[in-house]
Amino acid sequence: MKAHDGMYIGGAWRPAVGTDTITVLNPADEQPIGQVPAGTAQDVDAAVRAAREAFPSWAATPPAERGALIGALRDQLVARKDEIAETVTAELGSPLPFSQMVHAGVPILVSGSYADLAATYAFEEKIGNSTVYLEPVGVVGAITPWNYPLHQIVNKVAPALAAGCTVVLKPAEDTPLTAQLFAEAAHEAGIPAGVFNLVTGLGPVAGQALAEHEDVDLVSFTGSTAVGKQIGATAGAAVKRVALELGGKSANVILPSADLTKAVKAGVANVMSNSGQTCSAWTRMLVDSARYDEAVSLAADAAAKYGARIGPVVNAKQQARVRGYIDKGVEEGARVVAGGSESPREQGYFVQPTVFADVTPEMTIAQEEIFGPVVSIIRYEDEDEALRIANGTVYGLAGAVWAADDAEAIAFARRMDTGQVDINGGSFNPLAPFGGYKQSGVGRELGPHGLAEYLQTKSLQF
Ligand code: NAP
Ligand code: MG
Repeated sequence: MKAHDGMYIGGAWRPAVGTDTITVLNPADEQPIGQVPAGTAQDVDAAVRAAREAFPSWAATPPAERGALIGALRDQLVARKDEIAETVTAELGSPLPFSQMVHAGVPILVSGSYADLAATYAFEEKIGNSTVYLEPVGVVGAITPWNYPLHQIVNKVAPALAAGCTVVLKPAEDTPLTAQLFAEAAHEAGIPAGVFNLVTGLGPVAGQALAEHEDVDLVSFTGSTAVGKQIGATAGAAVKRVALELGGKSANVILPSADLTKAVKAGVANVMSNSGQTCSAWTRMLVDSARYDEAVSLAADAAAKYGARIGPVVNAKQQARVRGYIDKGVEEGARVVAGGSESPREQGYFVQPTVFADVTPEMTIAQEEIFGPVVSIIRYEDEDEALRIANGTVYGLAGAVWAADDAEAIAFARRMDTGQVDINGGSFNPLAPFGGYKQSGVGRELGPHGLAEYLQTKSLQF
C-alpha cells in the first residue's frame, strides 16, 4: 500500500509539524501495511488557515464550475476504483467484491450526484418581496469513521464543495490510506489549492482540535454517539453549525403477511455485510409469535452460510467489544442459534456471524449498538407491540418493513421514529436523505437535503 508521509494542505503534501505516526494494520492478518503522520493542533491550524484563504474565491466560483470540478473528482475516483477497493480491503478488511461494489462504487455514484446537483440546485429563490440567497456556510471540519471509509468522506466533502464551502478532513485513524487516495484524486481533478485539506491523526488530538477550532464554521461528524455528544456540546458552546451522524439500532419489522423467507434472508444479509459495521444495519429482527420459530431457523441457516465469506472487524478493540456483547447476550438469557463469541480463526480480528433468539426488547444486545455481525430476533404478539419495540431504543436511524403489500408496510413505516425505512426490500437511493431521528443524529446527508446542510440563507427585501 502506498502511504504519504505528509498532510495534504493548501494543494500540496507537506511534512507534519510533529514526528508521531500511526501504523495502519490489515485486520485480516494483523500485519502493518503503512504509516501516516499523526497530526497535531498545529497541523489542523495550518489546514484551517488554508481552507479559510481558499474560501472566498471558491464560494464565488459559479456553481456549474464547481460541479464540473466535482465531476472531474468523480472521474478520478473511477480511474482509481481498483486501487480504492484494494486499499479499503487492506485497511478495513471487507471482502474485495464488497469493496469494489460498495466501498468504491457508492462514492462514485454520490460524487456524480453532487456534480449534477451543484449545477442544477436553486441557490436563489423568490419569496414575496424578497430574494433569498443560499450561501455557503464557510470552512467545514469533517470528521469521519472507518466503517465506510470513502463513502463517509464523500458524503461530506462532495456536498460541502458543491455548496461552495472549503473543507478540512480528519479521517479515522484505522483507515487513513483511503483518505490519502481521496486527496490524490482531488488534487488530480484540479480542485483548487486549499479547497480540500487532509490532516491524518488521532481523534482526541487532531479531531478535537478541528472540532474546537474557532475558524471552523461547521463541524460534520460521523461516528459514535459518545464522541458525537461531545462535539455537539463544543459546537453549541461556540454557536457553530453541527451535523451529527451517529449510531443506530434499526428494526427489521416482518409483519405477519410478509414473505418470511425473503425478509429473513435479506435481514441477515443486511447485518452481515461489512461484518455488521454499518450504522444503519437492521440489527433487530421483529417477528410475530406464530412464525417466530420458523424465522429463527431460517436466520440460523442464513448466518451459517456466511461463515467463510465474512471479513474481520476493523481492529482488536472492536473484536473484543463485539465478543463482549455476545457474552452479555448469553448472560442475559438470549439463545445463540448461530455463531458465538469464540474467535473463528487464530489470526485476524474475525467474529462469527451470530444470531440470537429469545431476545427481549430490554436486553443490552437489543438496546446498544454492537457494530458487529450480530442479529437479535425479537418476538411480538401484535402490530402495536411491534411498533413499541421498533421505537423502543434511543436511536432512530433506519429500518425495514415487510408486508404482503406496500400500503400495509407504508402505514407501519409512517409510525416509526426513524429517518429511513426500506419497504419490502427497497433499494439504496443515493439521492434520498439519510440521517437520524432521536440520538441517531442531527442533520441529513446525501442528495439535495445533504447539500442544504452546508448552506445558510440571506434574505434581501425589495
Ligand atoms: P469514534 O471514536 O466516534 O470515531 C469517529 C471519528 O471521530 C474518528 O475519526 C475518530 O478518530 C474521531 N474522534 C474520536 N474521538 C474524538 C474526539 N474526542 N474529538 C473529535 N474527534 C474524535 O468511533 P470509534 O471509536 O471508531 O468506534 C466506536 C463505536 O462507534 C463503534 O463500535 C460504533 O458503535 C460506533 N460507530 C458508528 C459509526 C457510524 O457510522 N454511525 C461509525 C463508526 C463507529 P479516531 O479514528 O482516531 O478514533
Ligand atoms: Mg475512536
